[in-house]
Amino acid sequence: MDDYRLPSCLELPKNLDELHDLIEKSKDWALMHGGGMRSKTNFSVDSIQFAPFCLLPSVFPRKEFEKAVAIQETLNELIHKVAFCHEFLEESLRDSAASDSEFTGRLFKIYETVRKEGFNPSLSLGVLRSDYMMDHPALCSVKQVEVNTVSTSLAPMGVVLSNLHRFILQEMGHMDKLKNLPENNALAGASLGLIEAWKFFGNKQSGDGFLVEEIVVNICDQRFLEFKIGELCPEARTIRRTLTDIHKRGRLDAQKNLIIDGIVVAVVYLRTGYTPELFAGDGEWDALLTMERSSAIKCPSVQYHLAGTKKVQQLLAKPGVLERFLTDPLKIKAVRDLFTGLYAFDFDESGERAIDMAIENPERFVLKPQREGGGNNVYGTKIKDLLLEMRSSKERTGWILMDRIIPPVQENIIVRVGKKPASEDIVSELGIFGIIIGDADKIVYNKQVGHMLRSKTSTADEGGVAAGFGCLDSPYLL
Ligand code: ADP
Ligand code: MG
Ligand code: MG
Repeated sequence: MDDYRLPSCLELPKNLDELHDLIEKSKDWALMHGGGMRSKTNFSVDSIQFAPFCLLPSVFPRKEFEKAVAIQETLNELIHKVAFCHEFLEESLRDSAASDSEFTGRLFKIYETVRKEGFNPSLSLGVLRSDYMMDHPALCSVKQVEVNTVSTSLAPMGVVLSNLHRFILQEMGHMDKLKNLPENNALAGASLGLIEAWKFFGNKQSGDGFLVEEIVVNICDQRFLEFKIGELCPEARTIRRTLTDIHKRGRLDAQKNLIIDGIVVAVVYLRTGYTPELFAGDGEWDALLTMERSSAIKCPSVQYHLAGTKKVQQLLAKPGVLERFLTDPLKIKAVRDLFTGLYAFDFDESGERAIDMAIENPERFVLKPQREGGGNNVYGTKIKDLLLEMRSSKERTGWILMDRIIPPVQENIIVRVGKKPASEDIVSELGIFGIIIGDADKIVYNKQVGHMLRSKTSTADEGGVAAGFGCLDSPYLL
């Protein structure tokens, strides 16, 4: 299919040298307002570089943006109900857990263990992000890429980019265009969610525990949350620890409080643990089990983590499944309209059909394992090779197939460290943030809190920013 194209928010000059001063100024603005990351290639905890960004906000159709915002609280509710439905999780993930024993299987084992012991505490905190791309002109509507429930990032950076683009349009004298930049409260919204969970825990002496990777590239995104929590609620202090720290020094007291370095942890907020490479060994998996057993409110609890898997997404798209969790027919229809074709590789007729279909036209699909964090999916002819290789192995049931969304291109300038900015065709992915707190019987907090936009060169398969594929952006509503 031919590319379809959106206009840019303003016409770019033919000679980009005219933008030299503006680009240099915007790099400094980004650095001075936390639009940064640590260098992956030259990592040091003593320096931050600006994160790659689009010079201009990218056009996103207003109606579709508003649709995605409006549906978020329903999606929060859906994921919450899925997470607390044992029957559904069990039937959905049994095969994936068996075929992906390295990751989904281990998560599922922890889930089974704590379920039998009784979830402690009953409340879960979800910081969710539902991601969308606009699909091709025949449909011309947002389609859901995935829902993230674990280590959901970029709420703070979404806000930085909204402000950066406001600054850039002002610098260019386009005051008339500022009205098309939507308000974005993602940072305060996510921070308030963590504070709310801390309050539910009820012990004022306790802290919010950020569970982090050994090497944190996306440092501003995490620190903004910590600092905002401190600003909005000075009593709620935060600490940062790794899974290895919890393994070595964490313990449960007689009331199952999680104690590390003398601090009672109220909320465990995972910014790690979303892929097996982040567990150095069995000790780190034990740490996850210890935390799940503890009285701390987990973000995410293991059942929320499982509810965010791609396998669950695929099953929710099957006829009749949304009806198990939502009652309002209008909401069910609105959620269903977000889905694009999703297929499983079960050992049955439809599984064989899905394999044949993908082998015949691999460019029409994306092949996905049960992983997070970008860089795990398979595209193009590699889909064919991999499916032929695993056709007769049970491994195939751990993967899902998805229709490839063809987003519209538009012209923008990606500003990257050490590279001369050039005009490029880019495509965008919108993320909407939701916060939810609840237990098996009730939802006590449910909000849509803001958005972020990421863009990538139109020819790239994936667009993760920390993973090095994409750049930060913000939407310009038309
Ligand atoms: P992850 O959990 O690793 O982020 P995603 O499902 O979001 O996994 O896939 C990673 C990236 O791959 C997305 O950000 C998007 O750029 C691309 N992608 C995923 N699914 C599709 C799809 N159906 N069509 C087009 N691109 C996709
Ligand atoms: Mg994800
Ligand atoms: Mg993603």
